[in-house]
Amino acid sequence: MIEAKQKRVKAFNLQKKSNQDFESHWFEICEQFLNAVASRQRPAVAARLKQPNNGGSGLRDWVAAITWRGALLPERIPESLIQVYLTDPEAAPLHDCEGCGLLVPVRPSRFDGWDGEPEEVYFPTCPLCESRTGQYLYFTKKHESEKKINPLRRRPR
Ligand SMILES: [Zn+2]
Repeated sequence: MIEAKQKRVKAFNLQKKSNQDFESHWFEICEQFLNAVASRQRPAVAARLKQPNNGGSGLRDWVAAITWRGALLPERIPESLIQVYLTDPEAAPLHDCEGCGLLVPVRPSRFDGWDGEPEEVYFPTCPLCESRTGQYLYFTKKHESEKKINPLRRRPR
């Protein structure tokens, strides 16, 4: 009985520690993100990152993708990109650039959800590198070039 309780306490402490790591990592990326935003847009962006229910979750989703899924954080985020999130509460970072991997916002379809054809495509080309954008383009391209390389890397058994 005691042993089981100790185990639970240990697991709880581990959980607590990783939550703290998670949180500090999140705040660290938020800060880097804000530094990349044009200074006059910074207060509005900071407010949206702090309050989940303030003006849509698109910016938080984007920072989450940067924090947990390795999405690109550009050194300077184009103002036009931020502006979309500030004016469209439904904008979500669902498309990416084939060339550099930048996530760009679209307004998802109300009927088909995130996987359907978006209601509004704000950036058919990337505001950073002008490559085309779309759903999973960068990921697909990366995955395909890895597929081509992998057979060569595989050692015979
Ligand atoms: Zn790009």
